[in-house]
Amino acid sequence: MDNAETIKAEPQGVALPQLFNAKKLEYIQDTLKHRPFFLYFENDIETMFYAKRADEYLRILMAGKSMLLMLFGLIAYFAVSQFPNALFANDLFLVKFCFLPIALTLMCVMVFAEKPFFVRNFQWMAAPTSTIILTCILLASLSNYDKHFSQHAAYDVIIITTIVCFGIRVLFPVCVMIVIIAGSITMLATVMLNWSFDILKLSHYYGLGSMTTLVIVGLMERQERLAFLQELLVSHQTVELDRLNRALDRMAREDPLTGLVNRRGFDETMQIEWDRARRDNQSLALLYMDIDFFKLYNDTYGHNIGDVCLRRVAQTVKGALRRPADLAGRYGGEEFVVLLPNTDREGAVDVAIRILKHVDALALPHSRSKAASHVTLSIGISQLVPGNGNSLKEFLKRADDALYEAKERGRHQYFLSTR
Ligand code: GH3
Ligand code: MG
Ligand code: MG
Repeated sequence: MDNAETIKAEPQGVALPQLFNAKKLEYIQDTLKHRPFFLYFENDIETMFYAKRADEYLRILMAGKSMLLMLFGLIAYFAVSQFPNALFANDLFLVKFCFLPIALTLMCVMVFAEKPFFVRNFQWMAAPTSTIILTCILLASLSNYDKHFSQHAAYDVIIITTIVCFGIRVLFPVCVMIVIIAGSITMLATVMLNWSFDILKLSHYYGLGSMTTLVIVGLMERQERLAFLQELLVSHQTVELDRLNRALDRMAREDPLTGLVNRRGFDETMQIEWDRARRDNQSLALLYMDIDFFKLYNDTYGHNIGDVCLRRVAQTVKGALRRPADLAGRYGGEEFVVLLPNTDREGAVDVAIRILKHVDALALPHSRSKAASHVTLSIGISQLVPGNGNSLKEFLKRADDALYEAKERGRHQYFLSTR
């Protein structure tokens, strides 16, 4: 047997969508502002509203199934015990055309109504079954086999109409259709059967009664639709707010020129890695680098070309890193930093050499540099295993001092802090 068929449909709750586009958002806001009297949604939103109704239908069905059976049992019991003559009159007409069809319809409901296909298209199930049940009860109420029985059946008509319109969550136009079709079939049948009935009584308890019910149902559905739009708007705003918060958070940590993490973001990550390395007793390395004679570069080529140079050097530094945990950041104007978790001296030196080579390979002309004919870097390296005898501040200072030493020694080179 198909596996999906055997799985019982569980009410999931309807997941609201993430974000609406501008057009849909405008539609939602507009509708909430103008609150039109006849309110039906554009395609997607109507589908979502329908899905919500289907979910409610399933919940109501699961809770109300036994009540429905009990109700039918009670009606049947009272009919058999109180009105046996009416029930068994005229060749068992009421049994054959009222109680039996209702019983069969209810059986179908019990067997099929919770299947996922019917839940998804719940009106297909709810509308015909409701129409059949309502028609049968209506017929019973108009049968003239017993005056008292007719009267009691009329009460049942009111009960069933109320359940159909309020209970099973079919949409308003479908409710209207059910009421009209059940009424029409009943009228047709009574004409064909040559039954005489009190038209005034029928129009009061069925016509006016169901019309009043339908008006209330229509007004309630309109309120529900407005509340649904409100819900969509709130969910949209929540997602949007979350998205903006994330963007703000990212912007607060990102350097807009190079796309690397900025000083703040780098410091935060460095603190986390520092704590982790201390806990795990692992080595941590830091490269502190600075572009050589960058002031002269700016003076020669202009600030805009200077910015382009910064961007390209930043991407080159980042591109030279191989491990996912390695982090490159822009620490100041033309200063970059690289954090290398779980890396010893040799590893840090390897990375520094690789970065120097990659920046050389970029070969950005720098005619006034005294270190080379192209843009070059100086790198200070510090490495240690975080412990009681050292601090993060000291770790940074060692790298800065090493950078100073690399500059002093002629630039375009690395220097490893040995302290
Ligand atoms: P050294 O080799 O000693 O590092 O010399 P230097 O000229 O690179 O050092 P200095 O710190 O004196 O100059 C840094 C220059 O970097 C000064 C400033 O104009 C430039 N700079 C800082 N931030 C930016 C920026 O965002 N864009 C550009 N184009 N230039 C920047
Ligand atoms: Mg510099
Ligand atoms: Mg500098």
